[in-house]
Amino acid sequence: MFQDVTRAMAPVAVPVASKKALRFYRSGNVLWCVRAVAGLLIPALFLFTGFSARLRSWAERMGSKWYFAFALYWVAFAGLCYLIELPLDYYRGFVRLHSYDLSNQTFGKWFGDSLKSLGVLLAIGLAGGWIPFQLIKRSPRRWWLYLGLLYVPCSCMMLLIWPVMIDPLFNKFQPLQDKVLEAKILTLAARAGIEGGRVYEVNKSVDTKTVNAYVTGFMGSKRIVFWDTALRTLDEGELLAVLGHEMGHYALGHIVQSIALSSVLIFVALYASHRWLGRIPGRYQRRFGIRAWSDFAALPLLVLIVNFLALIFAPAELAFSRHQEHEADRFGLELLHNNHAAATALLKLQQHNLSNPRPGRIYTLWRASHPAIGERIDFCNRYRPWEAGGPARCDEYIRQRPVP
Ligand SMILES: [Zn+2]
Repeated sequence: MFQDVTRAMAPVAVPVASKKALRFYRSGNVLWCVRAVAGLLIPALFLFTGFSARLRSWAERMGSKWYFAFALYWVAFAGLCYLIELPLDYYRGFVRLHSYDLSNQTFGKWFGDSLKSLGVLLAIGLAGGWIPFQLIKRSPRRWWLYLGLLYVPCSCMMLLIWPVMIDPLFNKFQPLQDKVLEAKILTLAARAGIEGGRVYEVNKSVDTKTVNAYVTGFMGSKRIVFWDTALRTLDEGELLAVLGHEMGHYALGHIVQSIALSSVLIFVALYASHRWLGRIPGRYQRRFGIRAWSDFAALPLLVLIVNFLALIFAPAELAFSRHQEHEADRFGLELLHNNHAAATALLKLQQHNLSNPRPGRIYTLWRASHPAIGERIDFCNRYRPWEAGGPARCDEYIRQRPVP
């Protein structure tokens, strides 16, 4: 017992990244740059070669009504983009992960998932991709405002249905099978003010050897999901520590905060797009073969603008995400007071996911959704406000103090 207490108080050292982890980190950065350039280059090619206009004319000849012509254009455009990106996606999502021994996926599962993702993208485009062009046509001055107003309920709806309808297309989700663990989780959930039955496990071991857990959904579909790889890799104390972090996202309302931030950024992006479209000289429209901005042949231009603005906004979005992750870490520590388990869970994440515990500044700015694992372990080692007897930051969300 005395040994347990001593162990629980001991700081956890952050090991330096292995050579393999550093190789994974550096090659991942190169790959990220290649994908970012491709995300700008591919729509630009569709636009500048006039191919998008030719595709539109073909779709108009095939589909008699405007929507059917749009639908044909969208399926052809998204399908061609999929084929162009397929070699890079295959390397990134299959070959590379196997070469670093991070994947359990068969080629069949990878390809099946890849086709399903394309199917989901096609369905979303068919359901809503036509709306910007109709809004531009009907309200050339205010389309950006109406589209922004539509974005908010649409993103809530997507979040509501995604864990129930889309995620299960790729993996099997079920309530936690370990009933002893589930009982402990329900007790912890009650202390954090979260109703029971919201914790699931997913068979990610068919895809990956990496370890993770996350919070997803909105209102009725809000849930905490453990990858089965995490259930096998982490001991009970570490699982509860990870759960404490996820409960932090849940209890502190991080999903709603993220929707609010992305809504603000979408408004800015749409307004910027509106201003830019108004300033593009007419000769470019003629060169692209686009009749007006309400012509769906302008879709690659919208994709180009969205991908460009996503790069510009990434540092702000990621900084906010890192802030939320830090607050979720704080919540987990205040809920459980098990700093050692929280730190060793992060250590296992570092080792199993080949993470770099101290990445560079540019990586942090443009790619890091979480604080560096090294910083998170350092925080676990030092954050114990309850020892001084003072109030803790998340007190109002936590119903009972941990039993010492
Ligand atoms: Zn988190």
